[in-house]
Amino acid sequence: MGEKFQPFIHLLDIPYGKYVFDVNKSSAIKVPDAVYAYLKDMTNEPDAEVREYLEDLRARGYLKEKHVKVSEHPVTEYYHSFLKNNLGQLTLQVTQGCNLKCEYCAYSGNYFNREHTNKAMSFETAKKAIDYFISHARDSSHFAISFYGGEPLLEFGLIKQCVAYADSRAEGREVSYNFTTNGTLLTEEKYDYLVEHNFAVLVSLDGPQEVHDRHRIFAGSTVGSFQKMSDNVKMLRRKYPNYFAEMVSFNTVIDPAYPIKAICDFTDTDEWISGSNILSTVINDVQAKEKNHYSETFLEEYEYEKFKVLLWKVGRLEKKDISPLMRKHFTGIKQMAAFFERTEQNELPDKGHRGGPCIPGVRKLFVDVDGRLFPCERVSETSEVACIGHIDSGIDEKKALQLLNIERITSEECRNCWAYAMCSTCFMYAEDKGKLSRDKQLMECQSNRMQADKQIKDYLVLRELGYSGELDS
Ligand code: SF4
Ligand code: SF4
Repeated sequence: MGEKFQPFIHLLDIPYGKYVFDVNKSSAIKVPDAVYAYLKDMTNEPDAEVREYLEDLRARGYLKEKHVKVSEHPVTEYYHSFLKNNLGQLTLQVTQGCNLKCEYCAYSGNYFNREHTNKAMSFETAKKAIDYFISHARDSSHFAISFYGGEPLLEFGLIKQCVAYADSRAEGREVSYNFTTNGTLLTEEKYDYLVEHNFAVLVSLDGPQEVHDRHRIFAGSTVGSFQKMSDNVKMLRRKYPNYFAEMVSFNTVIDPAYPIKAICDFTDTDEWISGSNILSTVINDVQAKEKNHYSETFLEEYEYEKFKVLLWKVGRLEKKDISPLMRKHFTGIKQMAAFFERTEQNELPDKGHRGGPCIPGVRKLFVDVDGRLFPCERVSETSEVACIGHIDSGIDEKKALQLLNIERITSEECRNCWAYAMCSTCFMYAEDKGKLSRDKQLMECQSNRMQADKQIKDYLVLRELGYSGELDS
């Protein structure tokens, strides 16, 4: 087992022991300290005890040296048929306009990927998109249509036309609708309509007024939107409490330059949002002209709040002690648990693709105001490479396959990367001035691997702390 032995592994040291993540088996196994120490540098010959342990691991299929040989996404050969029948969700960009001008919004001018315009989608374009969706979702008994902006409620009339049209075309199959809103344009008339059509509504709420109004300002003014948004939301909750409980959620965009505790406390205690489902994301800076600044206080408080989630899961804290904002942290651990359950295997295949990309134009389809097609609403609308077709001509399969097989621009690095299967970046991170850039992609890799490392460790800590229940929320 001399110098040439190079098992494809990643080592993890957590307070409860030493682990080896075996890339071929997609499994994490606890090992004695001496084995861990040997695997860490592998320069000296192992002693007899370590050698015996390693041989036993190898006999059980661990410590293989194999790497994927050819980069090819397994869906590549079925892509054409997937495209024809399996479309999952349609998102219509009904407007690029907004009545707010939030600094971190993709339309604020602070991003490379979008420009603010007052363009709205025509009903003709929307109809074509809905027809395309229905004829490419043949295997679905249920359709999901999202309305996206700017602020979609600026085009409430168009939304109503689309709903009537989609319902008339659905041939008895169920259609569900949703949108994200800044909440300032919600009115009683709109509530009645949303309730009647059982819309799922995601309201943007960044925290208490002083936090929310830092960024969420009415366009052309310095006036914050918190008061208007919260008055509207409170009215909706009073008028339709059951609908509100089931169908209204909140999305919090966190600016990591500031402490997080004020937001956690607010989402925990304020009456009009109590009991609501709250999603959260850190400001998306992938295409931003300026990258996020993470303050030390933020990082400390964030880690502390995350640790509380683990303690809650092993019964050492109660649910009420955990901010709703942080409960979703458990989703990441659940995904990691599912990953380990799902992917345990003998070895890596000869032909494969790293994790990360969706199947473009299948999982979701985003249609912009002009009828251009994109894999989702998060990618750059000004990018030539991200545009995978037009509603008049359909998907350009060659371009879409290039995005599906994004690993090919960094094949060598990916095939040697321990985070291969759990990589979470798609082409969006590699896009630079309309082209796919290998260098830009590689700039993301370190933080991507750090995130995977942290998530495996959280999962292992939870296991060590004795969490044995269902990984439910
Ligand atoms: S962010 Fe990337 S992987 Fe996710 S849906 Fe959009 S294109 Fe697909
Ligand atoms: S982190 Fe980078 S090198 Fe590793 S699999 Fe992802 S894209 Fe490839």
